Amino acid sequence: MIVLELSCPEGHRFEGWFPSHGGFASQIEAQTVRCPTCDSSEITRLPTPCNIGTQGRAERVSEEPRDPGRRPDMVLRALRTAVLRAENVGERFAEESRRIHYGEAEARSIRGKTTPREAQELAEEGIDVIPLPFKLPEEMN
Ligand SMILES: [Zn+2]
Repeated sequence: MIVLELSCPEGHRFEGWFPSHGGFASQIEAQTVRCPTCDSSEITRLPTPCNIGTQGRAERVSEEPRDPGRRPDMVLRALRTAVLRAENVGERFAEESRRIHYGEAEARSIRGKTTPREAQELAEEGIDVIPLPFKLPEEMN
């Protein structure tokens, strides 16, 4: 499924949902796509700024302010660099996250392993845990 930004000669803008780019082309040719405002069938496609398939995921993993101009793979690379700089606490991740959160340990970035259940408990305590969309070097063996 693709979403395209469309416009008519009057400049009315609207979104059209199509099964594929091919489906869009054939519907335009058959003039079944019409402007919802003035019913014109002379529809042109506006350039779409990004691919909706990957955008949501990239935003979820990003710790940085939203920047729509930034490509998802750039965001992933930046996240990966930040993660590799963080201290690896391994299996003590949940424990160490709590110590930092409650001021018992020095505030710093850490990475490590946690179970989905632990991650859920940490989230309920207000501790930010970001699941990583890639493997870390220590997991690669
Ligand atoms: Zn129109």
